[in-house]
Amino acid sequence: MRVHLRNPDRIETVPGPAAVAEVLAHLDIPPHTVLVLHEGELVTAEHLLGEDAEVEIRPVISGGAGPTCVICRSPAVIEEPRHRAAWCSVHFVDHVQSQVRKAIDQAPGLGARERMISYDERVLIAVSGGKDSLALWDILLALGYRVDGLYVGLGIGGYSTRSGEVCRRFAEERGVRLHEVDLAGVYGYTTPSGAQATGRSACGVCGLSKRYVFNRVAVDHGYEVLATGHNLDDEAATLLGNLLRWQDTFLARQQPVLPADGTNQVRKVKPLYRLSEREMAAYCVLRGIDYVVEECPLVEGNTGHELKAALDVIEARSPGAKAQLLFGFLDRRERFAAADDRGEQLAACERCAMPTTGQVCAFCRQQERIHAALPLAAAQP
Ligand code: AMP
Ligand code: ZN
Ligand code: ZN
Repeated sequence: MRVHLRNPDRIETVPGPAAVAEVLAHLDIPPHTVLVLHEGELVTAEHLLGEDAEVEIRPVISGGAGPTCVICRSPAVIEEPRHRAAWCSVHFVDHVQSQVRKAIDQAPGLGARERMISYDERVLIAVSGGKDSLALWDILLALGYRVDGLYVGLGIGGYSTRSGEVCRRFAEERGVRLHEVDLAGVYGYTTPSGAQATGRSACGVCGLSKRYVFNRVAVDHGYEVLATGHNLDDEAATLLGNLLRWQDTFLARQQPVLPADGTNQVRKVKPLYRLSEREMAAYCVLRGIDYVVEECPLVEGNTGHELKAALDVIEARSPGAKAQLLFGFLDRRERFAAADDRGEQLAACERCAMPTTGQVCAFCRQQERIHAALPLAAAQP
């Protein structure tokens, strides 16, 4: 059979007929790190593949085995050892949506009558074209929230072109609004050129630019909430990084709901913090959401990846460890809250009026450095 391995892409020929589990063993792939698709459908370890089957193997993180749906007992399409459960496609979609429901209604740090997002609020979701943010947009729409999208063009070659196309198609198909900000067009630099001009890492330039543009667009267009697609794996890895360096102020602010502090700052929420990467990838496949499977080509050397890999080793041995780490931290968040003194120090940036703890915000300072080094005449924000 022909096996198409994704990211990095490669084709392998494996003798058949064979069960999915045998194919994975043959290729030396731990089953919990991937999703297996046969004729566009998700299949489990026992599924038998014929001699001339065409199979796709997508990398994701964490997982296990379980044959029937915990709700209806029909054949399962996905297992999740962390929950000791498996689901059919219908009930898996319910499972994902109900985890988001729970995150919104019972977010850590909020009172019983408070919500991460209310139905009378206008929500802006930052979409990258990847699985997490597009799935979240789909879920929030399905739950009936008023959500528009924001895509930031980072100028990372074909990767950015494809990401933008996927976001535009998602919005068009559903008749929902997508804002677009092209860094080069609006601010006169791309992630690679900005990194080169400042000597900073591409991830550093990218992260600062995204955070700024997300808040700026939300403020300029009167949205009350900004949602991002950060999932359980992202948050657990960030937490581990913050713990390894004991970054108290980051720990104090690593919350699924960050209230608006100061003026010109909207509330920031992460409704996917209870769901893993693997669950989000499966959700997209089951809901027919087209997303960019490839990773950002500039990500090499990103420490976030090492932290994720380290946690995956632990998760494989003890399913649920990641969730325990993150949820345990969130339960104890008050122990870290004292380190967050940002709210008291915030003022408006002299140049752009966005919140900053200094006189000129980090984004305006970065832009100045980039323009000093780049021969580009750029439009002012
Ligand atoms: P990342 O920092 O790439 O892990 O992405 C985290 C979240 O930021 C995603 O789930 C999206 O919500 C958002 N995001 C990342 N890249 C973009 C982009 N180019 N445009 C809009 N939102 C983005
Ligand atoms: Zn079911
Ligand atoms: Zn500024």
